[in-house]
Amino acid sequence: MKPLKSYNPSTGDVVGEVPVTSLDDIPGIVERSRAAQPAWNALGHDGRARLLTEAAASFRTRADDLGRLITQEMGKPLAEGIGEAKSLASVQHELQEIGEALAPETFDDGRHHSTVHHDPLGVCAAITPWNFPMAMPAWMVLPALAAGNTVILKPSEETPLSGQAYADVLNEKLPRDVLITVQGADDQGKRLVDSDVDLIAFTGSRETGKHILRAASGGLKRVILELGGKDPMIVLEGADLEKAAQFAAVNSFRNAGQVCVSTERIFVPEVIADRFEALLVEATASMTQGDGLDEGVKVGPMVNARQRSHVLTQLEAAVSEGAKVLAGGSGHHDNFITPTVLTGVTEEMSIATEETFGPVACVTRVESVDEAIQKANATHFGLGAVVFGEDGEETTRVARQLTAGMIGINQAVEGARGTPWVGARQSGFGFHKSKDGHRQFTQTRVLTKPV
Ligand code: NAD
Repeated sequence: MKPLKSYNPSTGDVVGEVPVTSLDDIPGIVERSRAAQPAWNALGHDGRARLLTEAAASFRTRADDLGRLITQEMGKPLAEGIGEAKSLASVQHELQEIGEALAPETFDDGRHHSTVHHDPLGVCAAITPWNFPMAMPAWMVLPALAAGNTVILKPSEETPLSGQAYADVLNEKLPRDVLITVQGADDQGKRLVDSDVDLIAFTGSRETGKHILRAASGGLKRVILELGGKDPMIVLEGADLEKAAQFAAVNSFRNAGQVCVSTERIFVPEVIADRFEALLVEATASMTQGDGLDEGVKVGPMVNARQRSHVLTQLEAAVSEGAKVLAGGSGHHDNFITPTVLTGVTEEMSIATEETFGPVACVTRVESVDEAIQKANATHFGLGAVVFGEDGEETTRVARQLTAGMIGINQAVEGARGTPWVGARQSGFGFHKSKDGHRQFTQTRVLTKPV
């Protein structure tokens, strides 16, 4: 079988290659994983946490090389690649949180004495995307392993080297077969979903999520689906417009818009729209684009030509249907799409309803707050949403009416430590992080005896 080549989206150069896992080998890999699970579980939470902490420390010492690999494979600015790699070293707090979430709990009602246990499920498949090619595997592999499962990781075919490097770092300390990598594209993913695994933890697109849910239903396998988004931002009249515009530019263009919680739609009352748009255009001008390895670059390329053509198709259709270009809109070349600001975006346009995953900020002017809320909620998605307004009841009232899973007020969506990363509606089927998230990797069992 031909190896899987990884290309640098900024230059087109080959970064490296990995052998593709043969589909026929996947059942045997699952058997090896299952055979390794009892001994891994027998280490107990503390034993597993100790090994995972020791292994993760290497992400700090090797962050420069790992970050460079991320940038070469998928194009993000080097500082962000290094930041992603470094973030994986800080596991202690999460491991402690997992230990607390999974500790047995006792209940006594005077007649029955019960203990609730959170046992590992067994073998967990983790299927991951390319936009955070080490962090997305880590968000699922770490809690799955810490809970006593063994894991088979299938990284995205766009970033196989980063996925492999992530697993290789952990495997320097983990016992054999506790974490096994399967390399390939959708065929390997499908075979893994169909194989004898106990849980499928998936982060990726809504379409693939639907496919996995259907495929998993035959065996009633557990699934966790963290899917795409079409995040809205509402700017209220009392908002600090400079802060709002700065946030909109950063959150629309970070990682070239290839973030599940990118700001993809911005709703602004007519009375402040001219000022907000001018500030957004100004902030967009500082978004230097180029090869992520070059100094000062803030916006890299699309991950591949397919993604570029998807974004350009939406962009061109929106313009032909009446959207006005306020910034960017031309000068696209190779895999690079110039950071673009559109205004006059309407609900009929595909750019207003389907995930873009590119550096395009879409402004829609509204007549009222109610219209902003109604339009913000008018997609199948429900991952994140953001409201900028005065620090007070009105802004919170608007935020509470949004149907997303995570809502930021005058900030991005990420919550305080301990809170879940959660999608609503067709953006999700489960959680990352948090007590709820950690327990997804376990089977709850209740033992009861008479008092
Ligand atoms: P994708 O769905 O195309 O692929 C994701 C993974 O699934 C890859 O490893 C791929 O090989 C595999 N795959 C594809 N088809 C499969 C099938 N039928 N069965 C099993 N596996 C299959 O997604 P992508 O393009 O890699 O990632 C981008 C998407 O991920 C965006 O929609 C983004 O919003 C989403 N995402 C969501 C979150 C979140 O937390 N909700 C985080 C990051 C990315």
